Amino acid sequence: AAAKHGVEDALLQDIFISVKTSEKFHGSRLKIIIDTWFDLVPEQTYFFSDATDEKLQERTKGHVINTGCGKEHTRTDLTCKMAAEYDMFVSSSEKWWCHFDDDNYVNVKQLNVLLKEFNPEENVYIGKPSMSRQISTLYSDENVKFSFATGGAGMCISRSLAMKMSPWCRRGSLLETSDKLRFPDDCTIGFVITNRLGVNLTHSPLFHSHLEPLSRIPSDDLKKQVTLSYQTSSSGSNIINFKHWKLFNSSFDPTRLYSFHCSRYPTTHFCT
Ligand code: UDP
Ligand code: MN
Repeated sequence: AAAKHGVEDALLQDIFISVKTSEKFHGSRLKIIIDTWFDLVPEQTYFFSDATDEKLQERTKGHVINTGCGKEHTRTDLTCKMAAEYDMFVSSSEKWWCHFDDDNYVNVKQLNVLLKEFNPEENVYIGKPSMSRQISTLYSDENVKFSFATGGAGMCISRSLAMKMSPWCRRGSLLETSDKLRFPDDCTIGFVITNRLGVNLTHSPLFHSHLEPLSRIPSDDLKKQVTLSYQTSSSGSNIINFKHWKLFNSSFDPTRLYSFHCSRYPTTHFCT
């Protein structure tokens, strides 16, 4: 197929990429995404936020969705956004749904390489669990166990599986499922897939959230990863240890992701 965007990998055109965000991060976290990997997959990627933003809407050609969800870091507000992501994927015609947080750097070429190994007509749920054991809890008054892929590291779901999730997820019902489970959105997705549907999570070591020490990924292995992340706070930060591309100082590039992106795509405008 002819490439409809920057990266000429046929499969990427079959992926619906949703990024959860919030108005308070439009100028900071979203700026990093828009400056870097967004331009490789601009037609595939949608931002699920909680406000309208004309400048961003123009820059992304209308790819910012104001979900109307609340603006807080609460289970309800975050699940409301994930439900909107799910619903938009279902009404799209893409073969894969990949969800990311707005503090993820997505190495889109590697995402393509990974998904090529799988068939979207089979039940595929892929990501990285943050816990080694299953979670045991109550769903209403039923004892249940489930596994889940950490939302903050990113995860992908095949169309075939996403369609089967619909009784617990479609048209906002993900929120009701999450209310009965009393766990966050990524856990609820994992519950629906691994418990209700009995489909296993395919573990990938290539997804990374800031729950893990990111500096432990060897510098030369960073390019093989599907996602990276960061946490920069005054009390200490968790960022990748990228040894190459020393052009940018840490005030311009505190996450090291501009540097990493430039090493992969050196012709990007800000790299020279
Ligand atoms: N987020 C949001 N509303 C909020 C806070 C966070 O939609 O009020 C989103 C944020 O944009 C990110 C995800 O939820 O995609 C996780 O938030 P964050 O990284 O701040 O927290 P974490 O759960 O990773 O500690
Ligand atoms: Mn985060």
